[in-house]
Amino acid sequence: MISKIILLGPPGAGKGTQAALLARRFGVPHVSTGDMLRNAVREGTELGCQAKTAMEAGLLVSDDIVVGIVRETLARADYARGFVLDGFPRTVAQAERLQGLQTSAPGPFVVLDVKVPDEEIIVRLSSRRVCSACTRTYNLISSPPKREGVCDDCGASLTQRPDDKPETIALRLVVFHKQNDSLLEYYRSQGALCCEVDGTGEVDAVAQRISHLLELEQVR
Ligand SMILES: [Zn+2]
Repeated sequence: MISKIILLGPPGAGKGTQAALLARRFGVPHVSTGDMLRNAVREGTELGCQAKTAMEAGLLVSDDIVVGIVRETLARADYARGFVLDGFPRTVAQAERLQGLQTSAPGPFVVLDVKVPDEEIIVRLSSRRVCSACTRTYNLISSPPKREGVCDDCGASLTQRPDDKPETIALRLVVFHKQNDSLLEYYRSQGALCCEVDGTGEVDAVAQRISHLLELEQVR
């Protein structure tokens, strides 16, 4: 029985898109930590208020708060049949705290490691441009503006965020690989099903590969 799926992979690997497709297929909720945080803030839970205070002060929301919000979310009735997580956990420390979670969702965690070569991630992410006026985001490869360097909506010029420069992305990937390798090691040691998925190519092709892998796991 597959019901608790964790998608791992570098930024720009398309985890969010695949997670949404998987959630629909299995009829379980798909939650990113960003969504969970926003919900907690909107609902004004105790942890949501702490997160809001941190964000308003321009601070990173601490692991304690993030993990707490994830645990509260996953303990809800609508998550009892399972869930698809993407972008969480990012570290072994977070994974360990997620493991202790009391959830009624059956079966072990299924960890899908979406593989995309660094060079391709760098191309994908460094193709991002943002409008200097209205902040609409474009991708020069997948969703380019009609006129080069100009926003379709407001006509202002497009710029590249410092975070999207190739050298910055390369540094982020170094950190990512270190954390990801440790996470996979941790999940294997916990008896989770860990599968590698080729994340290159079209969204549909990647989704097909994931379906195929999960079918293999289900008949095992
Ligand atoms: Zn604009």
